[in-house]
Amino acid sequence: MSIEKKTATELLSLNRFNVDEEVPHIVLDKNICAGCVEKPCLLVCPAVLYKLDKNGEISFDYAGCLECGTCRIMCKNKGIVKWEYPRGTFGVSFRQG
Ligand code: SF4
Repeated sequence: MSIEKKTATELLSLNRFNVDEEVPHIVLDKNICAGCVEKPCLLVCPAVLYKLDKNGEISFDYAGCLECGTCRIMCKNKGIVKWEYPRGTFGVSFRQG
């Protein structure tokens, strides 16, 4: 019997997401984010959902969120004005990732 090794990216790609298009479970105040020098969200999100756009502003899409809560903990300037788990039946379903 052989054991197939998979990369973290391959394992994460097995997850399934039921994205709640009506109610985002994470909301940012981009005015606060604009004044944040460190921007730890760019480094800590395991799904790499926080990015800098060409204007140097944070762009974020909650689809693909792993619901780990790391960004909520690390956002010391409180630019994340809402963080809660998705409503019932929505969000991530982990499948080995
Ligand atoms: S909860 Fe985790 S996966 Fe979701 S956006 Fe925050 S750091 Fe990324």
